[in-house]
Amino acid sequence: MEENFTLLEQNRDLIDIAELRMDYLPVKELRDMNGIRKRMGIAAIATFRKVCDGGRFRGDEGFRRKTLLDAVQAGFEYVDLEYGFDFPEVEAAVLNKGTAVIRSIHNFSGVEVSKGSIKGMLSLPDSEIPKIAVYPQSSKDLLGLLQLYSTFKDREKKIIVGMGAYGFFSRILYRKFGSLLTYCSGAEASGAPGHISPEQLKDVYNLDIITPDTAVYGIIGNPVMHSRSPHLHNAGYRKYSMDAVYIPFPVDDPDQFMRFANTLSIKGFSVTVPYKKDVIRFLDNVDQSVIQADACNTVVRKDNGYEGWNTDIEGFFRPLEKRISLQDIKRIAIIGAGGAAGAVIRALKGLDAQIHIFNRTEEKARILSQKFGIRYFPLSSYEEIERCDLIVQTTNVGMHPLEDKTPLPGYRFRKEQIVYDLIYTPEETIFLKEAAAAGCRTINGLEMLFIQGKLQFKLFTGVDYPEN
Ligand code: NAP
Repeated sequence: MEENFTLLEQNRDLIDIAELRMDYLPVKELRDMNGIRKRMGIAAIATFRKVCDGGRFRGDEGFRRKTLLDAVQAGFEYVDLEYGFDFPEVEAAVLNKGTAVIRSIHNFSGVEVSKGSIKGMLSLPDSEIPKIAVYPQSSKDLLGLLQLYSTFKDREKKIIVGMGAYGFFSRILYRKFGSLLTYCSGAEASGAPGHISPEQLKDVYNLDIITPDTAVYGIIGNPVMHSRSPHLHNAGYRKYSMDAVYIPFPVDDPDQFMRFANTLSIKGFSVTVPYKKDVIRFLDNVDQSVIQADACNTVVRKDNGYEGWNTDIEGFFRPLEKRISLQDIKRIAIIGAGGAAGAVIRALKGLDAQIHIFNRTEEKARILSQKFGIRYFPLSSYEEIERCDLIVQTTNVGMHPLEDKTPLPGYRFRKEQIVYDLIYTPEETIFLKEAAAAGCRTINGLEMLFIQGKLQFKLFTGVDYPEN
C-alpha cells in the first residue's frame, strides 16, 4: 500500500480517479478498507479479481466477497464486479451506499465477446456501467474493437478498452468513443505494450484537449511504439490548439489496417518500416516525390481518396548539406535497399558522385539500382565500402529490437569517412559508435526525423509547424 500511495501522490494532479487492485496486495494489507479509502482522498474504484478473470487472487472466495463488501461500506465510489458475479450482500450494500457498479468482462486473447454476454451487458440496469476489456492481437482485430463501440453506442455510460499495443489507440481516443474513462499506469508499468503513464497521456497525447470530434492522425509501422513522431506532431497540435491527435498504430497487415483507417476516418498517417513501398498500392494520387523515391512516408486523406508524399528526401538532405561540403563527396555507400534508401538515393542523385547500394537481399538491391542506374554489391563487400567518402546507413539494424547489432559487423571505418545513420532511437547506434571511435564525423537520424515530420505536419494540417 505504501508503494501505491507513493504512486498516487506522484500522479494526483494528473488523474481524476484511482483504481485499487486489491488482488495485487498481500491479504494482511486489506484489513483496513476505511483507512485506505480515507487516505486515498480521490474518487476510487475497488477491484478484486480472481486469477480465472485475469486477476491475481487465488485465495478464499468468502474473503474476497467480504473485502469487496468492506470497500463498498468504506465509501469507494465504484466497485468493479465481473459479469456473472452474484453476491446479494454486496449488491444490497451497493444500493444502500449509492456505489456505482462497473460490470466487467475481459478477453485477454482477442476481441471476441459471446453474443450472450453482449446481450446481458446491454440490458444491465442504468445504475451499472458495462466495461469490456479486450486484447486485439493483430490489425485484423481492430475492426472488432470498433464494432464493440458501435454496439454500445446507445449506453450513456460504458468503458470499452483495447489492451496491448494494437489497442493503444483506444486509450487515447476514449472520449471520442464515448468511454467513461481511460486507464493509465505508473511510469514503471507504462513500459509494457499498450500501457501509458498519466504524464505521457497529458504531455505527449494532449488527453486534456481531446474531444469526441478530434481528428485522428498517426504513424503505421512494425515496430512503431518506440516512435518519437507522436511527440513532434502532438506538440504542434497543442501549440495551435488544434482538435487533433497523432497516435502510433502497430500494423501486421496493411489491408486490414486500411479498412480500419477508413472506418475511423483517419485523416493522415506517417509510414515507417516496413511499409513505405507497400503502402503505395493504396494511394489514389501520388506526388512526384513518391515516384522519385519509389517509397511513401506520408499519406493524406482527401475527398477523392488517399494522397501520398515522401518527405524523407528533404528530411535526409538538409542536415547533410548543412554539415559537409558536398562537392568533396565522390563516392557514396548506401547500406540497405528499403523505403528509406530510395529517398536517400533520390536526394543524393543530383551530386557529382558515384552511388553504390549494399544490401542483404540481392533482388531488392538490383531493383533499386536499376531504377536509379547505379551499381549494387553484397553487404559483405567491405573493400568497396572502404573506398566511399560518405556511408549512409538506411537499414533498421541498430534500432529496437536489433539495437545490439550493426549491419556491417567487423567493418573498420576510415577516419576520413562521413557516416550518416538514419536511425534516431537509440541516438547513437553501434554503427555510429564504431564510426565515431574510428574518428569519423557522424550524423544521426534525429534532425531528419524533425524535418520530415514538420513537412508532414504541413501536409496534414495545411499550416507550417510552429517555430521553436
Ligand atoms: P524497410 O523499407 O523495411 O527497409 C529495411 C532495410 O533494412 C532493407 O534494406 C533490409 O534488407 C534491411 N535489413 C533489415 N534487417 C536486416 C538485417 N538483419 N541485416 C541486414 N539488413 C537488414 O525500412 P525503411 O522504411 O527503409 O527504414 C529503414 C530505417 O531507416 C529504419 O530504422 C527507420 O527508422 C529509419 N528511418 C529514419 C528516418 C528519420 O527520420 N530519421 C526516416 C526514414 C527511415 P533486405 O532488403 O535484405 O530485407
